[in-house]
Amino acid sequence: MRLVRQWYDPGVSDRLSFDVLVIGSGASGLAAAVSAERSGALVALATKGALQSCNSAKAQGGIQAAFGEDDSPEQHAEDVWRSSHETADRCLVEVLTSEAPGAIHWLEELGVEFTQENGGYRLAKCGGATRKRLLQVGDRTGLAITMALKDAFESGSGTAFPKSPLGELTRTEGGWRAHCGEHVIDAGTVVLAAGGRCFREARERGELSTNHPGATGEVTQIAVDLGAESRDLDALQYHPNGGAWPETMQGYSIPETTRAYGAVLLNADGEEFTDSLGPRDEVSQAIFDEVEKGSGVETEDGRPAVYLDTTRISEADAEVSLPYMLRRYRSGGIDPLKERILTYPVLHYQNGGLVIDEHGETTIEGIYACGEIAGGTHGRNRMMGNSLLECTVFGRRAGRAAAEKAAA
Ligand SMILES: Cc1cc2nc3c(=O)[nH]c(=O)nc-3n(C[C@H](O)[C@H](O)[C@H](O)COP(=O)(O)OP(=O)(O)OC[C@H]3O[C@@H](n4cnc5c(N)ncnc54)[C@H](O)[C@@H]3O)c2cc1C
Repeated sequence: MRLVRQWYDPGVSDRLSFDVLVIGSGASGLAAAVSAERSGALVALATKGALQSCNSAKAQGGIQAAFGEDDSPEQHAEDVWRSSHETADRCLVEVLTSEAPGAIHWLEELGVEFTQENGGYRLAKCGGATRKRLLQVGDRTGLAITMALKDAFESGSGTAFPKSPLGELTRTEGGWRAHCGEHVIDAGTVVLAAGGRCFREARERGELSTNHPGATGEVTQIAVDLGAESRDLDALQYHPNGGAWPETMQGYSIPETTRAYGAVLLNADGEEFTDSLGPRDEVSQAIFDEVEKGSGVETEDGRPAVYLDTTRISEADAEVSLPYMLRRYRSGGIDPLKERILTYPVLHYQNGGLVIDEHGETTIEGIYACGEIAGGTHGRNRMMGNSLLECTVFGRRAGRAAAEKAAA
């Protein structure tokens, strides 16, 4: 059934009708909204704050795709599988890695300019990877991607509802009714792209987090209450390298590319105690263990930490791939190319989420999920650079499928 297209007439009704309603304006929601609109749907995009308020815009390090001569989507898939400790959904992983190069070209068509080197992409190796595979836009990759997606959405026919958090979702005869802030929005299908919950989780635990304040997880709960299946929701990821000092950098996610370009973790005695480019959960655990056994250091305000020896990064690499990080530390009075910085793991990412199929549909027909709110693609341990990729690949898929179902 195609939902009859209606429009907002304040004199008659305060109810709005669309083919597809997307919840959340991070990379996954924007990709879904653009894709649904380009598939012919009338699209609404409701989000909690401003359109650019999301974790995606904070992402720095980069996005994975197999472009290296020694690389392949199959190798990429194997790395994801191994890093997930064989807990990922292999079908979703194959979609993720096989569509990665196409997703990059789609982003380029929308205006994203990935950093180039020697006539190709500048590729870095990230934790848990066997090949160099991380594309970057300096160290503001997420900002570049969300800006391009936002421009694409705003140049189409979709309608944005900022400051309109989803509070309630109910089934109707023709699809779904959503209460988003002061708006009541009807839609044939709904794409949930509201991200994870690490900001709330960290606040409740009294810990630091890299996350945006909007990452509170209530939309996952709304879907679960409606009967949607979830998986691995207990598997939260610590970013191994949260900023520990100076105070202004506490909770900052020091890009993993620092380690890709030569930085290593050191204990109080200046000894390397782990493979700095191991899978994230292993590196974080190694830091926790090192501090636990008394080989860590303390920040000036008494927090636990170890050293990240960033002085091993060459000035040339830092200038191209870490300019934002350098600027932030230097304005806090520390030059990472001249002295080691202090780091400790911080809550960062919700590995699990709503169960989806390869088109992003949850176990409830007509409700789709993509991005951090969905589970399975990373199993219980995500590799860096695969989240922005997941947002793009599955955002596009979910948007397209939601538009097709709304039109059926
Ligand atoms: C500091 C940092 C650095 C990172 N670096 C990288 C990296 O280099 N590479 C990588 O691949 N990944 C990285 N990640 C992870 C990645 O950025 C995120 O996991 C991913 O962007 C999540 O995208 P999303 O669209 O699912 O959610 P988000 O980008 O978090 O967007 C969620 C949206 O939903 C909205 N929302 C929330 N609740 C509601 C509600 N009730 N109603 C309506 N809207 C709601 C929010 O306001 C927001 O607009 C990083 C994350 C952080 C925090």
